[in-house]
Amino acid sequence: MNQIKAIGFDLFNTLITADPGALSEAMQRLTTSLEESGFQFEAEPFRKAYREAAIRFVTESKANGRETHNRFWISEALISLGQKVTPGDPSIAKAVEAYFSAFFDYCRLIPKTLEMLEQLQGRYRLGLLSNFTHAPAVEGLLDQFGLAPFFETILVSGEIGYRKPHPLVFEMLVNNLGFESYQILYVGDSLDPDVLGATQSGLRPVWMTYVRDNRLPSIPVPPSESDGILSQGVPRVSDWEAFLSLLQQS
Ligand SMILES: [Mg+2]
Repeated sequence: MNQIKAIGFDLFNTLITADPGALSEAMQRLTTSLEESGFQFEAEPFRKAYREAAIRFVTESKANGRETHNRFWISEALISLGQKVTPGDPSIAKAVEAYFSAFFDYCRLIPKTLEMLEQLQGRYRLGLLSNFTHAPAVEGLLDQFGLAPFFETILVSGEIGYRKPHPLVFEMLVNNLGFESYQILYVGDSLDPDVLGATQSGLRPVWMTYVRDNRLPSIPVPPSESDGILSQGVPRVSDWEAFLSLLQQS
């Protein structure tokens, strides 16, 4: 690994994880916020409409590589229940903030993440590239866990408009880190966006399987990929100790 000059990291289930109750608490905070804004709906039909709309927007987003946003499926669910609202309504923005506020209480660092970054800082240029619809939530989490100062570039799909594995986001990471793609490692837990995305863009992937190996829930997005051919020949690490020894191999 001696020609490696820079390392890019995924965020969710690579550096941080969310505890199992995160999504139900987030949903509770979302519905409470909407009720406080004066929307009237039954909880169960709303959840069903919300789920269906979310799946539709996220599936489309994965297919075309363009990032989507929670405001679209929240407003669509409300409209399907007879409420009048647009995705740009301030009450929807407030509900999005309420939803993601749960992540600040339910997320935690993967063990030894700060120690690992401290060891790498100064030896490599470090960057973060996250698929996340709502960029302000990522910024808040990076601040909360003291992660932001380690990274020379922080890229979030919700801000860029495109998501991994789209080549455009990896190109931005490579440009911002200032080295050739083959000099950059990219570490992530998801095969399709992280391992395949990095490989297609000429970066060297490392598959981080802490969450998978410890059978933790993969939140916010459950892993949909199989281990199959994608991971063949890709270095796989289950913790940061293994990652640091991988870096020392020449
Ligand atoms: Mg991830």
